[in-house]
Formats: sequence, structure tokens, C-alpha cells
Amino acid sequence: MPGKRIFIYDTTLRDGEQSPGAGMMPDEKLRLARQLEILGVDIIEAGFPVSSAGEFTAVRQIARKIRGCQIAAIARARTTDIDRTWEAIREAAVPRIHIILPASDILLKYQLRKSRQEIMEITKMSVAYARTYTDNIEFSPMDATRTDKDFLCRLLEVAIDAGAKIVNVADTVGYAIPSEFGELISYIFERTGNIGDHILSIHCHDDLGLAVANTLAAVEQGVSQVKCTINGIGERAGNAALEEVVMALKTRNDHFDVQTRIKMEQIYKTSQLLTEITGISVQPNKAIVGANAFAHEAGIHQDGLLKNTQTYEIMTPQSVGIPESRFVLGKHSGRHAIRSYIEKIGYVVNEKQLDDIMTQFKEVAVHCKNISAAYLDAIVKKNEEQI
Ligand code: MN
Repeated sequence: MPGKRIFIYDTTLRDGEQSPGAGMMPDEKLRLARQLEILGVDIIEAGFPVSSAGEFTAVRQIARKIRGCQIAAIARARTTDIDRTWEAIREAAVPRIHIILPASDILLKYQLRKSRQEIMEITKMSVAYARTYTDNIEFSPMDATRTDKDFLCRLLEVAIDAGAKIVNVADTVGYAIPSEFGELISYIFERTGNIGDHILSIHCHDDLGLAVANTLAAVEQGVSQVKCTINGIGERAGNAALEEVVMALKTRNDHFDVQTRIKMEQIYKTSQLLTEITGISVQPNKAIVGANAFAHEAGIHQDGLLKNTQTYEIMTPQSVGIPESRFVLGKHSGRHAIRSYIEKIGYVVNEKQLDDIMTQFKEVAVHCKNISAAYLDAIVKKNEEQI
């Protein structure tokens, strides 16, 4: 029996685009949306149509051209936003209106200057209004992890009663920690009377480096939609990285027992395309898609990998679309890796010759952070007469 299905809601084109410096032109957004469709995300959040005329056009273009995913866009809880958002997405194969509304006391007091009672009424009104356009409505109380738990559950009940099909718990400021977030999700399932078969979703930020951990904790408690972005881009420290969430669910399926429809071998290509479009590259040690994610320098690891890749790789690079593991030759490299490299470039050496080459190579490597394989080539060639 395949495990429960988890819906992957990608918000690279909305929250991701809110990363400083990640603004995209309408055609760039469409190009990325096409790749997200190939990657197999279930829902693409295309943008915030009310924010500008260009954004409206970009969202509408995606809604018209991408047919393999649901297309969502966000609206604040007001009729003018909902009208404009619907106008942008209505031609999508499956359009979704995503209504956001501040919910925590901090936001109500300082940003909105409204009471909890008023928020309940605005929720009811805005969801009911959006319902006149479509039944595919998602409602997100913002800053849910700093919101009174019982008020949060009442708010979700009101939204569901008014017609929301999906309700989303947003850790807008990245405040949650995994055990507590898991408990919150389980509390919501217990205390939201009408949750029934409605989809419970989560949206996590990485301010404490916990976005992916919180997302996985929520999956353990039974949410069926997770929001993420490619390379983890997004406001401030970013969102949960799609590639990390998906590969954790896949690699540790023994633990999570859930399925997504993501085509894993498209992950690297999608990551690269986003970097190309935004000019923002990922750090080398970034999980799954960083330049070093499948690079090995330590001699013990290189030796193990040459014998069997499962020794030091829990996933293959090919499974995420990276052609091969990379051996970094440096001061930590061992005999097995260096011999293997020498044979790859066409030489056969005996033990004594390998000793000489290794001594010469390491004399230099110890002083160099990034020694190139070309240097090893040169040493091998210098020793060629003996070889
Ligand atoms: Mn966000």
C-alpha cells in the first residue's frame, strides 16, 4: 500500500520572489512555472496580483499557460483584492484563491488595530465572498504560531464554515520549534470541530534554521499539504526548501510513509534554473543541491564510496538529477581515491610510485585550500619516466 499523499504547494514565485534581490520579470516567472510543472508540484502560488500591474500580468500568463498544476494567488481579506486575484487566475485549469489575514495579538494590536472578534467577522466575510467565485479556497491566519491556540482553532472553524477547503497554519516569522509545532498541529486536529476531510496545510520560515524540521514535524502529525520554495528562498531567511522536504520524505519513507508526485530527477535542474534567473546561488554545503552535497574529500569516505556508494551516500546524486558524485582531491584524500584518479587519466602505478606521487601531492595540498586535479595530473606526468 502506498503511503498517504502529501500535496506540494510551491511558493517560489510568491514568497520566494519576496527574497531581497529575487524579483523576476513576467517571462522569467513563466519559465520557472513551466519547470515547476515538469518537476511535478501540485500547486503553484504564482504571485500577489494586487501588488502591481506587472505582477497581475505575470500571474494571469501563468494561469493561462500552465495546465498541469493548480494555480494559486494570494489576496488580503478584502473584496477588492479577491476580485482582482480571481481576475488574474480564473482562466487556470484549477484556480485557487488564497486569503491571508493577520491573526496573532501582536499583529492585531500593532498592525491591524482590530479585535479578535473583528478578525472572525472579516474571515467569514472574505471566505464567503471568495466562495462566490470558486470552492477552491485556502485560508491562512498569519503568524499562527504566535496566535492563541483556541482563537486559532475558532478562526479555522469559521473559515471552514464559510467555505474554505484548505486551511493553512503559517509560521510567518519562523518562531516555531519542531516538537511544539507538531503539538500545535495535533491540537488543531483535535480542537477544530469541522476539520473533517478538509486539507490542513503548513507554511514554515527558516529564521531559526528550522523550516524543514518544522515541516517534517507537521507531516508526522498528519498534515496533507506543505508549502515550500526551491532552494529555500523567501522572506528574510527563507522558507522550507522543497528539495530538502521532498528528499527527506523519500529517503526516510520508512519513517514518514507518505508519497509525493515530485519527479526527483528534475530537482537539480529546477534549482539551477532559479539560480540562473535570480542570480542568487546556493551555498556550497546546501543540502541536496549545493556544489558539495555529493562531493567527498576524506580518504576513508572516498575509499568506501569506490567500493560501494551506499557506504557514505544516503541518496544518489542521479536521483536528484546530478550526473555524478564528485571526489575532491586534497590533503584529506586517501590512496584509493588518488590511485583511482591516476588510472582514470590513463596511468598504472605500483605501490612505490603511488607513494612518491602522494608525498609530492600532499606537500602542496596541505598549503592549498583548493588544489586542482590538474596539479595532480602535473605530478603524475613529472613522474612519468619512472612510471
Ligand atoms: Mn511566508
